[in-house]
Amino acid sequence: MTCPVIELAQQLIKHPSVSPDDQGCQDILIQRLRHTGFTIERMPFGDTLNFWAYHGTGTTFAFAGHTDVVPAGDTSKWQTPPFDPVIRDGMLYGRGAADMKGSLAAMVVAAERFVEANPDHPGRLAFLITSDEEASATNGTVKVVETLMSRHERLDYCLVGEPSSHQRLGDIIKNGRRGSLTASLTIHGIQGHVAYPQLADNPIHHSLPFLQELVNIQWDNGNEFFPATSMQIANIQAGTGSNNVIPGKLWVQFNFRFSTELTDTEIRQRVEDMLKKHNLKYDIDWWLSGQPFLTCKGELVDAVVDSIEQCCGYKPEISTSGGTSDGRFIAKMGAQVVELGPINATIHKVNEGISVSDLQKLSLIYQRIMEQLIK
Ligand SMILES: [Zn+2]
Repeated sequence: MTCPVIELAQQLIKHPSVSPDDQGCQDILIQRLRHTGFTIERMPFGDTLNFWAYHGTGTTFAFAGHTDVVPAGDTSKWQTPPFDPVIRDGMLYGRGAADMKGSLAAMVVAAERFVEANPDHPGRLAFLITSDEEASATNGTVKVVETLMSRHERLDYCLVGEPSSHQRLGDIIKNGRRGSLTASLTIHGIQGHVAYPQLADNPIHHSLPFLQELVNIQWDNGNEFFPATSMQIANIQAGTGSNNVIPGKLWVQFNFRFSTELTDTEIRQRVEDMLKKHNLKYDIDWWLSGQPFLTCKGELVDAVVDSIEQCCGYKPEISTSGGTSDGRFIAKMGAQVVELGPINATIHKVNEGISVSDLQKLSLIYQRIMEQLIK
């Protein structure tokens, strides 16, 4: 007997929806939800398809997710073609199996079962789906959230299906994420001949003490919910390629993942004060890609923890580690936001896969969460 969750996941994987090209995935989900009685509102922005769907009225619980996937990479390294879903040794393989077409299938089937069992349920069950989470994330969830907020839509609880689990299904859930801030810094000097350094000004030499100080800073110690803020240099470039030229400039890019102990303004200020202290001639551009957000203990965290315990027999760890997700935009609506999805060991890699039994269990956990919150 085939299982509806696995069948739907396979159907979605067959569509090569490399970000932000949805390739018909949302049509499949929309058709299923419409058949279940959901009202569908498509919200395309630019190159990105999105939709908002709802069933019922009142206190709102929404599932959030994305139909886009990252590119397959080197297809010769895949045991089976990335967009040809195959079950092998209890695992479903294909690009997006774990991030996050499996979760989408689990959500939709869970919602179908819930509505069938509770056709006149109180409250509102909703879906917020985008096709641009993996790439620029400019025309996806952020725009849908702006639209919903401009008309004062209600969103109380949101479950994001990102692959949060580490070693076994549901061992980790995310109740927030650190902020992400990137600096692109150019240090200016004067180009010249290495044999005549008095006629030049070497930006590499001037930058080193500053960079050393930057690397050694302990920004904070984190707090009960967040790990300590970290800074990593991601790119550094200088030099003409020639061994007898002092370069005219150095370019360096570094990224902060910051806790709620600091604000992006405080980080910027401290870095720019240091640049001045070191007497550097510089230009700096800052890019804030996400503020930190946190959902403290509450009905949603309780319902998720309880559902995992009932379906898996163990309690999840509640964490804010890892990268950013669309949860950062949804939290702006004032909703409690939690991420729960499959094991993330293979996401974005070749031979991405998800355990078939985990995927079936994930759908049951999602259903149990709805049963606790929509009542
Ligand atoms: Zn994802």
